[in-house]
Amino acid sequence: MKICDVCGLPEELCVCEEIAREVQTLKVYTVRRRFGKLMTIIEGIDEHDIDIRELTKILKAKCACGGTAKKGQIELQGDHKKKVKEVLAEMGFSSDTIEIR
Ligand SMILES: [Zn+2]
Repeated sequence: MKICDVCGLPEELCVCEEIAREVQTLKVYTVRRRFGKLMTIIEGIDEHDIDIRELTKILKAKCACGGTAKKGQIELQGDHKKKVKEVLAEMGFSSDTIEIR
């Protein structure tokens, strides 16, 4: 049985990640990269609380695009700001704390 380091409860009882999602302040914006390609950046993910790889996998599937995760930041290929906000809200992130620029 795995025990959560944060709350000390067995993993199946742990709600740390759910709580973290509600209080996390995320920034979602697009940048233009080489060759004029647009990327959607999701910033402010606390990797200690959030499984960033899993989140990237879900976002890539929902937006049907490529993407990578590094240092608390997810990069998706293309402009997916609206879709990203929808998906994050579905996953339990509070839409009040998702800032779209
Ligand atoms: Zn916990």
